[in-house]
Formats: sequence, C-alpha cells, structure tokens
Amino acid sequence: MRPPPASPPLSLPPLALPAFEPGWVWLAGAGPGDPGLLTLHVVNALAQADVVVHDALVGPEILGFARTGAVLEYAGKRGHKTSIKQSEICARLVQLARRGKRVLRLKGGDPLVFGRGGEEALALVGAGVPFRILPGISAGVGGLAYAGIPVTHRTTNSAVTFITGHDARGQLPRDLDWQALAKGAPVLVVYMGLRHLPEIVERLLAGGRNPAEPLAVVSDASLPTQAVLETTLGRAAADVAAAGLAAPALIVIGEVVRLRGAMDWVGALSGRILVAEPEAGAAVLQG
Ligand code: SAH
Repeated sequence: MRPPPASPPLSLPPLALPAFEPGWVWLAGAGPGDPGLLTLHVVNALAQADVVVHDALVGPEILGFARTGAVLEYAGKRGHKTSIKQSEICARLVQLARRGKRVLRLKGGDPLVFGRGGEEALALVGAGVPFRILPGISAGVGGLAYAGIPVTHRTTNSAVTFITGHDARGQLPRDLDWQALAKGAPVLVVYMGLRHLPEIVERLLAGGRNPAEPLAVVSDASLPTQAVLETTLGRAAADVAAAGLAAPALIVIGEVVRLRGAMDWVGALSGRILVAEPEAGAAVLQG
C-alpha cells in the first residue's frame, strides 16, 4: 500500500468523552490494525490508562497512543500457542483494578466478536469490578472493506454468517451444522480459519456448495502488509498452501468476493485498475 500523504492536523470539536476512574477496567477493541480505525473512545482511553493489557493483534503504532508512563502489558494468545490462560488474564485484570489502576484491556477488532470479551466482562462482574465496553471495528467487517469486499450487497446476499474456524481447544467447532451453513448461509466470513481451511471446504462441498464459488483470503487486513488471495472454494486449499499466507487472516466465501474487482480501493491507491466485471481465471494474489 502506498503511504498516504501527510494529513492536515486533526482538530476536533469539543467532545464529552468519559474520565477514566481509578479501579475501573475498560474492555476495548482497537479495530483490525489501521490506527485510523480506532474510535475516539479508545484514543481517549489510551490517553488516560495506567496499564494497557493488550493482545497480539494490537500493533505498536496503536500502542504508541498510550500516555507517557503507561505500562504496556502483553497478554497475548496467538492461534493455538496459548501462552497465557484466559483465567489468568481475567485474574490479572481484577488484580490491577483492585490496586486502583485505570486498566485498559485492548483487543484486536471488537472485544465481543470472537475475542472472549464476554468472559472477561463476566469475570469483572463476578469480582465486583466496574467496567465499560468500548466496541471496535471487527476485522470481519472493516478488514474486508479494505479488501474491497462488502459483507452484504443487495443483489447477492441478505444475510452474512460469521464463524470461527477453531474453538478453545484449537479444533473446528463441534456445534456448527455445516449442512445448514452450506444451504442457508450465502456469505460466510471465517475468523481463525486458515489452519482448518481444507476441512471447512470439504464440509461445505459435502453440503452442496459449488466448487466454483468465489473465496478470498485476506491477511493483515487494513495494514500496509495486507495481502489478498482470490480463488474458488474448490481450489482454495491448494492455492492458500501455495501462497503461504500467514495469520491473522480472514476467509470469505460467497458472491460478494466478485465485487472486489470493482471495489478494491486499496489496490487502486497503488495503481491497480479497477474493472466493472472481474475476470474469471487463475487465483490472484495481491499485496
Ligand atoms: N475480536 C477480533 C477477532 C479476534 S479472533 C475482531 O473482532 O476482529 C482473531 C482472528 O481475527 C484472526 O485469526 C483473524 O481471523 C481475524 N483478524 C483479526 N485482525 C485481522 C486482520 N487485520 N486481518 C485479517 N484477519 C484478522
């Protein structure tokens, strides 16, 4: 992605954003990666927090918004490498709040979309620690927008289904009815799905999905390292393995993927010519 021209200084009208009281935890989402997708609430939180307990998806540029002197504490879990247990993170948030800190728990995307924010909120309720929730832009919506893929489009789908490719044990979730998804979900957006992609494809094909259906994998959505692979359901497993795309990545399956040919505005910023009718053919990998 070509670096944007220097922006004019940002001047905001007066805003009544909340004061961060000591002993509170704010559970917040930082969006998919581009710092411009932070909400004003999260910028306000970063400017006041004593401790920022963040996960692996929150990048250094975003952490750079923290006030001088704030402690940055990594509580990351990446893929199946579970470095810190969820119960330990919850206990740590409670402990810091009880020490009178202003605790910002900052996660990628939205804290309540496959982010275990609900579990943390319930732990705070259980411990009697006051909290706020600051929503963020989920990667499955805003990240896909950076790939020029709308999650709904009037002529293609009136519903979108968000699924996770793995459960707490790292397995494909057992409570998903793949036959029903294959039949009833026109657009599927899969978080954490790279590892189980061949299995996901197999189940959808077994449920009657067309192997020619478009599929895209978007890695590092909204970041300068964003890469998009466009392929089909039938070819996805082989193409993804060959392209060597790395997490974090989203998989999107459905007709909306075709709109990228016309709507890839990030590609257009670096000189890609947009087409009204995307060409069928070989997989396309674009950085
Ligand atoms: N709470 C987050 C999701 C956390 S689960 C949200 O709302 O976005 C982690 C998964 O999110 C990753 O495995 C990946 O599937 C997806 N993800 C998060 N950020 C991403 C990004 N910048 N690009 C692509 N996928 C991303």
